[in-house]
Amino acid sequence: MLRVDIRELQEGPVRTEGKLRPDDPAFEGLDLDLAGPVSVTGQLQATGAGEYLWRGQVRGTLRGECRRCLTDVQTDVDIDVDAAMFSSDPEAADDPDFYPLLERASHIDVRDVVREELALAAPARLLLCREDCAGLCLSCGADLNAGPCGCSATAEPV
Ligand SMILES: [Zn+2]
Ligand SMILES: [Zn+2]
Repeated sequence: MLRVDIRELQEGPVRTEGKLRPDDPAFEGLDLDLAGPVSVTGQLQATGAGEYLWRGQVRGTLRGECRRCLTDVQTDVDIDVDAAMFSSDPEAADDPDFYPLLERASHIDVRDVVREELALAAPARLLLCREDCAGLCLSCGADLNAGPCGCSATAEPV
């Protein structure tokens, strides 16, 4: 369960566990191509008046294209979230360190964190199919990973 009732948190930390399908509304509008469900584990706890802390892991597999040779790449993301803080304090609303909550919020949804963490991780992960990808020939478009194409031009490393 990734959406936790705040009343439950008054009694102590709550374990959060769940799998989000690639079509989960949490990922709506993100430029992400998920190859399968995203699994989430962790723990949510109250840390003060209207303040809550989530620690957990986000694991999934992203699909994309190698920047040099455009081949399909799948990459595992495994994100440790040390401290995601939620606050209903209006003063925290503009603070990027906090996930804002409505003052009368009844639930905390850690999917907000999952969405943000994946959005941040995705561009960095999908750069290359492998470190030494040779890319495509700039003249003929041949995949230079398969060997020299015979042109004199060589691909500029991106
Ligand atoms: Zn490549
Ligand atoms: Zn060529």
